[in-house]
Amino acid sequence: MTEPTQSIRTRLVQRSRPERGQRRVVNPPVYRASTVLYENIAALRATRAERAAGKRTFSYGTHGNPTTFALEDMIADLEGGYRTRLSGSGLAAIAFGLMPFLKPGDHCLITEAAYEPVRKFAQAFLTPWGVNCEIYKADGSDIEARFKPNTKLVYAEVPGSQTYEMLDLAALAAKTKPRGITLAVDNTWGSGYLYQPLNHGADVSMIAGTKHIVGHSDVLLGAVTTTKEAWGPVHEMHDAFGICISGDDAYLALRGVRTMAVRLPVHQATTLKICEWASNRPEIATILWPAWPNHPGHDIWKRDFKGACGLFSLEFKASQAKVDAFIDALHCFQIGASWGGYESLVNLTNVPAQRVVTDWSKRGPIVRFHAGLEDPADLIRDLEQAMRQLA
Ligand SMILES: *Cc1c(COP(=O)(O)O)cnc(C)c1O
Repeated sequence: MTEPTQSIRTRLVQRSRPERGQRRVVNPPVYRASTVLYENIAALRATRAERAAGKRTFSYGTHGNPTTFALEDMIADLEGGYRTRLSGSGLAAIAFGLMPFLKPGDHCLITEAAYEPVRKFAQAFLTPWGVNCEIYKADGSDIEARFKPNTKLVYAEVPGSQTYEMLDLAALAAKTKPRGITLAVDNTWGSGYLYQPLNHGADVSMIAGTKHIVGHSDVLLGAVTTTKEAWGPVHEMHDAFGICISGDDAYLALRGVRTMAVRLPVHQATTLKICEWASNRPEIATILWPAWPNHPGHDIWKRDFKGACGLFSLEFKASQAKVDAFIDALHCFQIGASWGGYESLVNLTNVPAQRVVTDWSKRGPIVRFHAGLEDPADLIRDLEQAMRQLA
């Protein structure tokens, strides 16, 4: 059993394991279930009563099973939250984390630094459904002027996608709470281990478990975790839509998350080495990474985060065509979406189109990197040889 006094590093290893019995394996076995069988009618009635009272029960496949429950408990613990619901992708987690707090006629504020598909969700669903969506500045500095009597939700991402703008979440919560506005945060970068938005005033936290929790780039996963007060609507919305994940995916995520406390410091140390190297390169205009001392909002990161991950961006002093050739010349950094796995990745960004409040149009091309678990010397050698394309 895990003790509350144990560190999260220990809990990641020790918790959510099969109950002590005669013989046990170390991870909960995979349950593959739609049907759950009951011994008799009394047992069926008892289970239904438990569910009606809001208790988590292994009663039907869509309600979850012992494998998915073990993962829910692990993520709730990581987030410092009350309870967690799981979904088949990070994007689905965001959609089902926001919808419970919005209805037609409401006003909702979305950060300009949001993961791009969230903007699409707002355009394709929230707006036609009758929710008035408005974009606010990534650092939250313009938010007070945007509040309306019908503002019901503020959606933040800390740090922001692609350029990692920091936001003082506690200061934002001090403005949303008295107005009864729900504060929801995309916490994929910090994933609970590095950052706990619920402990800085947020009501709802969403993680793309696809990234650091799974850690191996082979499973899609989303998780919504809330405070006790915000739990009811989230739980109900997930039930209403039948949102669930398979025992197989939960098993793989649980296996991946065991090593999170070992992986993340390696991603951070490698990224620091790369940034130190990049700071001496004339081809690089800006290093975008919250743990870098010159990064805007670095002090907020230092105050609120336990560490940094391997997702960072570099702004280049070169044409996009030359930067394309640079990316094509990389070998260790492979071109691909997603991040948070063990391998290094590189991807294009479209920051000027995304930031509708802040003007990024005068900036150089921005490339997003994920520093994996390879030897940092090899990664730097790879970047160094590709730099020849910029000459
Ligand atoms: C990847 C990502 C998501 C979406 O996760 P998927 O599982 O790919 O849907 C959401 N937010 C952030 C910040 C991400 O990086």
